[in-house]
Amino acid sequence: MDPATRLLDRLFPPKCIFCRKVSDINEYGSCSRCSAALPRSGHFSIPAAPSCSAACAPYHYAGAVRSALLRFKFSRRKGYARFFARAMADSVRSDIKGRIDCITWVPLSRARLRKRGYDQARCLAEELSKELNIPCAPLLEKIKDVRPQSSLSRKERLTNLSGVFRAISPFQAKDASVLLVDDIITTGSTVAAASGVLKKAGVRVIFAVSAARD
Ligand SMILES: [Zn+2]
Repeated sequence: MDPATRLLDRLFPPKCIFCRKVSDINEYGSCSRCSAALPRSGHFSIPAAPSCSAACAPYHYAGAVRSALLRFKFSRRKGYARFFARAMADSVRSDIKGRIDCITWVPLSRARLRKRGYDQARCLAEELSKELNIPCAPLLEKIKDVRPQSSLSRKERLTNLSGVFRAISPFQAKDASVLLVDDIITTGSTVAAASGVLKKAGVRVIFAVSAARD
């Protein structure tokens, strides 16, 4: 350990990202106690998103994972991205069969980004890109904000998201195989809308990964 890291460790001893106790944490940011109890997931299908060939997530959106993701998203715990991305990389390696040319993410709108200061899905995508050694590029933009998906019925969710995403031109991923990153996948309607736009722009294969699934 270099002196700077040692000093930082003394000033800010590492805390488990799940229980927030000072502890010896593993490469996923977790203490051994939490590690044994985390709700693990794996690969799953998204019936709502036929353009997406396969999806995976290391965790279920529950308990300590849910609270950690809420802190990551709303309480400026940007540093959690690295830890979640490591777990996501493991999922991708074991659950996604097929080559991936490029990583991209489900973006926030400009207004939301200004308010929050960072795009959590982008942070995950960039860390995942380092883990997997696959380039990461912005391919989509969110051009309007919509009512929260959780307040809507299944049918409303799909129409609510139409016209929300646009492919960034010039489009860099024609005929490519793309891994789409989001922080949480719930019904899959966001992934469906985003992958529909990617498909139309010429992406050949789309896989999806999130830190957690509902
Ligand atoms: Zn813990």
